[in-house]
Amino acid sequence: KAYCIGVDIGGTFIKMGLFDEKGEKYALERLPSQALGPPESLLENLVQACRNLMEARRADEGRVLAVGLGVAGKLDIPEGRVVFSPNLPNMAGFPLAPRLKDALGIPVFMENDANVFGLGELWAGQGRHAANWIGVTLGTGVGGCLVAGGSLWLGDGLGFVGEIGHVIVDPHGPPCACGQTGCLEAHASGSALTRGMTQAFQEGSPMPSWLREAIASQSLTPEHVDKAARAGHPHALDLFRRMGWALGLALGNLFTFLGIQTAIVGGGVSEAWDLFFPHLMETLKTTPRMLHPTKIRIYRTHLGSLAPLYGAARLAWQGLQGRLGNS
Ligand code: BGC
Ligand code: ZN
Repeated sequence: KAYCIGVDIGGTFIKMGLFDEKGEKYALERLPSQALGPPESLLENLVQACRNLMEARRADEGRVLAVGLGVAGKLDIPEGRVVFSPNLPNMAGFPLAPRLKDALGIPVFMENDANVFGLGELWAGQGRHAANWIGVTLGTGVGGCLVAGGSLWLGDGLGFVGEIGHVIVDPHGPPCACGQTGCLEAHASGSALTRGMTQAFQEGSPMPSWLREAIASQSLTPEHVDKAARAGHPHALDLFRRMGWALGLALGNLFTFLGIQTAIVGGGVSEAWDLFFPHLMETLKTTPRMLHPTKIRIYRTHLGSLAPLYGAARLAWQGLQGRLGNS
């Protein structure tokens, strides 16, 4: 039996899965990404985790044929390297795909993490049922992809297609990890939530002790902000309101331009769906004049955090068939 490994390298975690050609999943692994430090040690851990998955299959005579990598950031696909990544800053310039290929001795294919989210949705998710849609991933950063006519749009192959997170929604808004001001990512990501909550703390906003402790010990996560919002903390609720507003604004702009009205939303922060979705819909239904308000379709992925893993494995299978591939 033959398998491909799909890997999703995000700002906080590296997730991996083993998939057969039909999209059946066989094993999963997870590593912290930032805690791994410099690219060489990230690579070392990644190689080890891939070998573990390969070994596990050898026992039952399975063979792993290729690896697909979804990586956050602007990429040089032909060279298999990260050019610039707001949330994986020390990966810039590192030839991740060729190095992994040399270490494992099997082909490695690379694409942006939000693009592999799109491939995953096209392979195993709701993306199969619509021809034209925008994919959005809400995590440490905000990623995007465009599916047009049932295929992933690759633009001019410049390595930054679908970078919806760095579309500016408010020039006077908060700073973004990319260096710009007021990006969608600065309003609608996990980092926007933790940064916003930390700022409220510094400005003396009253908070329960568990929240103050998490901030003071620099261990605040988006889940803490979610919990605070559900406990009725006004600032936390406002952060989710701004998230929904910013997403509605960005999607409304893109829908207006593209003449489509469907989006699929994933990423870890989409777990907080009920906290931001009503604000997203309110913005989408009241602001962009050209849209058909009753025909707007915003879906939450059914694949959870596995969507990019499916897509990365799909990338590998497609690469082996000589379609959408590099190296
Ligand atoms: C990066 C994108 C990535 C997204 C989600 C953004 O900051 O620029 O390339 O897809 O985060 O990880
Ligand atoms: Zn940005």
